[in-house]
Amino acid sequence: MSKNDSTKPTNFIHEIIEKDLRTNKYGGRVHTRFPPEPNGYLHIGHAKAICIDFGIADKYNGLCNLRFDDTNPIKEEQRYIDAIKEDIHWLDFDWGDREYYASDYFEKLCEYAVQLIKKGKAYVDDLSADEIREYRGTLTEPGKESPYRNRSIEENLDLFERMRAGEFPDGSRVLRAKIDMASGNLNMRDPVMYRILHKSHHRQGDKWCIYPTYDFTHGQSDSIEGITHSLCSLEFEDHRPLYDWYLNELGTHHPQQIEFARLNLSYTMLSKRKLLKLVGEEHVNGWDDPRMPTISGLRRLGYTPEAIRNFCERIGVSKSNSLVDIALLEHCLREDLNKRAPRVMGVLRPLRVVIDNYPENEVEELDAVNNPEDPIMGTRKVPFSRVLYIEQEDFREEPPKKYFRLAPGREVRLRYAYFIKCVNVVKDEAGKVVKLHCTYDPKTRGGDSPDGRKVKSTLHWVSAAHALKAEVRLYDRLFVKANPDDVEEGADFKSNLNPNSLETLTECRVEPNLKDAKPGSRYQFERQGYFCVDTDSSKGVLVFNRTVPLRDTWAKIEKAQKKK
Ligand code: ATP
Ligand code: MG
Repeated sequence: MSKNDSTKPTNFIHEIIEKDLRTNKYGGRVHTRFPPEPNGYLHIGHAKAICIDFGIADKYNGLCNLRFDDTNPIKEEQRYIDAIKEDIHWLDFDWGDREYYASDYFEKLCEYAVQLIKKGKAYVDDLSADEIREYRGTLTEPGKESPYRNRSIEENLDLFERMRAGEFPDGSRVLRAKIDMASGNLNMRDPVMYRILHKSHHRQGDKWCIYPTYDFTHGQSDSIEGITHSLCSLEFEDHRPLYDWYLNELGTHHPQQIEFARLNLSYTMLSKRKLLKLVGEEHVNGWDDPRMPTISGLRRLGYTPEAIRNFCERIGVSKSNSLVDIALLEHCLREDLNKRAPRVMGVLRPLRVVIDNYPENEVEELDAVNNPEDPIMGTRKVPFSRVLYIEQEDFREEPPKKYFRLAPGREVRLRYAYFIKCVNVVKDEAGKVVKLHCTYDPKTRGGDSPDGRKVKSTLHWVSAAHALKAEVRLYDRLFVKANPDDVEEGADFKSNLNPNSLETLTECRVEPNLKDAKPGSRYQFERQGYFCVDTDSSKGVLVFNRTVPLRDTWAKIEKAQKKK
């Protein structure tokens, strides 16, 4: 089923593709790919690329491959491959049987290298990595040619063959393209194509001791797969002339590369390298820590794939970099959860309430609405009894102005239950309120007063004897700055970590209907926000992650913008 119902072009990539379809540039084909490097978990930025790559194939009845660009055996692992596949499927995209690996093209890439050597377009260089860097020049100064640049084709063929055969130690030689050391584009100054690295590859084992660079692999892999439109992020714009050069020199199928702006999200780090640091140095509890911007972290936090796809749709596709407000992502989530999440009552910081005039041992089953947004979701029963819990913050002994919740002598409504009035406050030795005595009005059953009496607030509650104990994890932003890379001199992005990004509450109480709640199920705790059952729950206690609080700052921003 197409997820893109619109047939109109809605961004500049669509326009290019539709032009190519009109001119029959690729025989009417649209074939894209998503090319992750399996050196970490996917994050929300990758979700944008996935939605673009798979979304476009979908829109134009084309195909999208999943290709792992696994050229660097030092950083790549099978568990990353598994996680990447799981995340793409979770987002509800599918690559069919087209799961490819750049490493499967190593033999072909070697042939391409030999082809370029034979054309006099590649040479073996004995300069060290440092020397190569030195010779490369700068943006303002041209580079210098290597003294090995003009080796004969025969010598280059022989040396490359011996590089492959394992005759030379790591780093002693490289194969370079012979392009232009004075080019204004540094990528064109005789880039490295192959390096010597005696290291096992996660798929190729010990078959290779030379590995192609990413730049010598990426474009040719697209070409080998018959990709028509190679969509990638903006940082590859400067690499396009090089990819074009390789494909032109090799005379093979030539996809059209189109660059779009990366997603940058406020208060969020979107670099696999830096996320890996957070995991490795245990600033977070693994790649799927709910504070991480990874797909697996967002999933564990309670995000839905629909919310993420909708977000990607709304941010659109453009050519210029910008910073997206994380409030928009959260807004998309609330919009989705509002429609689908069943409402329940849960008390995060419980305060005991005894209803003095309610009979001991009596229990009533009261009707509660599961989702006011969706009548089909029906109602459920919640038990009410003499001893309840309400939220500590819903009571003030000395209520300030505009505080309408419970206070001594004041009457409030308990959701779906009764009006109660506070008649007595019990404190511990330290003066902390530990219990309230209240009375209830039996005539207000269901929460309405027959005499038209009004109360100014409605509280959520649970019955103490029936409630389930739960742990709730409250999350705040992982970084204190909108741009986590904005740091003092000498510091790095980790200095912007929010030390209070996780608060764990262990004494929470939730209504008994949640007894069999499975990890991954999402609820709205009335008045508190959306919560998702965590995978840690399997250990016997219910553990919830607060997915997102209720207050929607994006809706406010939009409203303010409309007023202007
Ligand atoms: P990172 O910088 O986080 O390590 P990457 O670009 O190295 O990311 P790849 O695995 O190479 O990660 O990315 C696969 C695809 O996802 C690429 O086409 C890349 O352009 C795209 N991509 C990565 N990050 C973003 C982002 N923030 N926004 C949009 N697309 C992205
Ligand atoms: Mg990359």
